[in-house]
Amino acid sequence: MRILVTGGAGFLGSHLCDRLIEQGHDVICLDNYFTGSKKNVEHLIGNPRFELVRHDITQPVLLEVDRIYNLACPASPVHYQYNPVKTIKTSLLGSVNMLGLAKRVRARILQASTSEVYGDPTVHPQTENYWGNVNPIGIRSCYDEGKRVAETLFMDYHRQNKVDIRIVRIFNTYGPRMHPNDGRVVSNFIVQALQNKDITVYGDGSQTRSFCFASDLVEAILRMMEQTQSIGPINIGNPGEFTILELAEKVIKLTGSKSKIIKEPLPSDDPKQRKPDISNAKKILEWEPKINLEEGLALTIEYFRRGL
Ligand code: NAD
Ligand code: UDP
Repeated sequence: MRILVTGGAGFLGSHLCDRLIEQGHDVICLDNYFTGSKKNVEHLIGNPRFELVRHDITQPVLLEVDRIYNLACPASPVHYQYNPVKTIKTSLLGSVNMLGLAKRVRARILQASTSEVYGDPTVHPQTENYWGNVNPIGIRSCYDEGKRVAETLFMDYHRQNKVDIRIVRIFNTYGPRMHPNDGRVVSNFIVQALQNKDITVYGDGSQTRSFCFASDLVEAILRMMEQTQSIGPINIGNPGEFTILELAEKVIKLTGSKSKIIKEPLPSDDPKQRKPDISNAKKILEWEPKINLEEGLALTIEYFRRGL
């Protein structure tokens, strides 16, 4: 097939491009390089089945494709809050443009949604039928509400125009090719630990997250796209739940670092807990994560050790 990956030069997008090329597809990787980098896909450049296109999905694009993976959107709070208007435009206008393309060429299109649609959840673990607890006017809203309206657009294009859609709700994912200055917790802690700098825990560190390794996540996305039982939304993540303090301690232990843990103010609207209910993914995709946190952290530490 000919497959478009928007945000393909980013952390998850580049791993997805690798797998699609391995599977024998033709891949068009489209990116504006806001948070992604050509370096993430440089090993694919020159492969006749790989094309790299600099383009911003807030503008329409004309292509002929069979599948669209819509991953373009900054994912780290630091980056998505840098230009919040652009962030929400990427989810809103980007989704309209990509759905319009899918409709015109009759491509199947998958949206990379997020656990952030649940906001600061009052239901734990989060199931797909929970509508969430999102602040519509806070500093995370450009991302959270952008992703929520994208889900609405996907569902409406499906109901109104019969576009063949898939929606995955991705929970915190980490691994090699995360940007060292990405600002997300796993990359921050590893970079700080490897440089023996203070580990910055925001708040008291009792907030929880569930961390999924990139290869597990990509496998689930590929399965979601190619099955025909469900359009989603479907949760994808690793249900192992850890406090941020536990994560900091694990990173210090695995790196053998001399870093000390320091506390910094908790950003506003920071969700207190997050853990996916992945019953649907298990049943429909016959998938569950294989890499536990220690293994995944060790692989990610190795990647950053080589690069720093
Ligand atoms: P990332 O920042 O590494 O990748 C996003 C990519 O999109 C980058 O290459 C960036 O340059 C590109 N991009 C941003 N705006 C664009 C635009 N307007 N036009 C074209 N390209 C644009 O982040 P990631 O972690 O790889 O996330 C990929 C997708 O998965 C995002 O949609 C994100 O919201 C979603 N997601 C990720 C996580 C996670 O934990 N990694 C969790 C939930 C959802
Ligand atoms: N966090 C932290 N120190 C950091 C970066 C993040 O304590 O250097 C916390 C952050 O406040 C949040 C959690 O780690 O509670 C996960 O943050 P991240 O930005 O990775 O993703 P989120 O799940 O909040 O979107």
